[in-house]
Amino acid sequence: MRLAVVCYHSCPMARLGERDAGGMSVYIRSLAQGLGKQDIQVDVFSRRHDSTDPFIVEMGEGARLIHVEAGPPEAEKTDIAEYLPTFIENVESFVAEEGTEYDLVHSHYWLSGPAGIALSKTWNKPHVATFHTLAEVKRQARSGLEDPAERSSIERWVAAETDAIVVSDRHERDFLARLYDAPPEKVAVVPGGVDIELFHPRNKEEARARLGLNGDKVILCVGRLDPLKGIDLALGSSALLEDRGHVKVVIVGGDLEKDPEAQRLQDLADALGISDRVRFEGAVPHDELPWYYSAADLLMVPSYYESFGLVALEAMACGTPVVAARVGGLPSLVKDGETGYLVPWHCPEPFAERLEVLLAHDDLRDHMGQAAFLRAQGMAWEAVVQQFATLYEELISRGVAAREAV
Ligand code: UDP
Repeated sequence: MRLAVVCYHSCPMARLGERDAGGMSVYIRSLAQGLGKQDIQVDVFSRRHDSTDPFIVEMGEGARLIHVEAGPPEAEKTDIAEYLPTFIENVESFVAEEGTEYDLVHSHYWLSGPAGIALSKTWNKPHVATFHTLAEVKRQARSGLEDPAERSSIERWVAAETDAIVVSDRHERDFLARLYDAPPEKVAVVPGGVDIELFHPRNKEEARARLGLNGDKVILCVGRLDPLKGIDLALGSSALLEDRGHVKVVIVGGDLEKDPEAQRLQDLADALGISDRVRFEGAVPHDELPWYYSAADLLMVPSYYESFGLVALEAMACGTPVVAARVGGLPSLVKDGETGYLVPWHCPEPFAERLEVLLAHDDLRDHMGQAAFLRAQGMAWEAVVQQFATLYEELISRGVAAREAV
């Protein structure tokens, strides 16, 4: 089997935790590498974003990343839609020149959808779309206001034209049906996974010594510095803790020089009088993160929306309980009262209450951390890759005729 994967707007091998490189990049990378190991050839096509990058990058056994010219490399995500036709043309001529034949096209994110559909039509092969996030859902979470007006109509068009849609959680299938009229039978639910070889518990004392975090209780937040992540709630709730003088809040992710959100959050920490208790780390290499999760007493995910919430699963795999907002895919990962807590309100007080309980009770934390670890063991990437391989096979054997039948 040979797959063409389209990830137009962000390079899956880019530095994580900055700009647009987050869970989606990890997802595409892990899936391509996992499929490659199973003898499924994968080519990921992404817009060239750095003129110094090689044209073709080996992602691992059987998986290549191809940087396709389309507009100036430094163009911002908000300005790249106009280069889509060039991108499609350049992919088509590269593929024709190489003489490669693909069995299926899988596109990621709304900007890649039209490219995926165009390529699948040219090659007469089935197309699968994964949106990762949807404009209408973000809007309901009072975020995504900066999204271009055409985003939802393009998503609606892709949902209608594609052969199948993959989502990570059932709630997204409901959203697609309700907000985009996508027929539920077209939507496959394949939960994401975690690399349990990388994310496993490390010795807490060693992890703390390594990160210079000895002596305090540690609340950790990990993610791109995007208002959607609700880091303001992490700061607001930490400021309410009775024992806040002995608590450190460690915030991993973002470009501290360039992200406007970094300054806003630092100002907020100042205004709350806790700036000496908050450490902004900036983006941390992915394979360093197990040390952070292991050093932390808990991970906080106070996001306004998460389609899946990979960082919660990574922390769980490291044996760390999670206090999360009850939104999107998080309730499928975090079991309230078992592997952490789910908070249904987006205000600091109820978060602070849950933080107090967990930070004050070592046994409870250990118990929940162990339950979180066990739960994460059932969500390793290998199983996800297997589900995708089966889905692809099914779609390939149905062929494009199914497109008309749905
Ligand atoms: N991440 C990282 N370094 C950072 C910040 C984040 O490697 O400094 C990774 C993190 O480990 C996770 C992903 O980025 O795998 C974020 O995924 P999530 O689904 O939580 O958020 P998204 O970015 O998709 O909104």
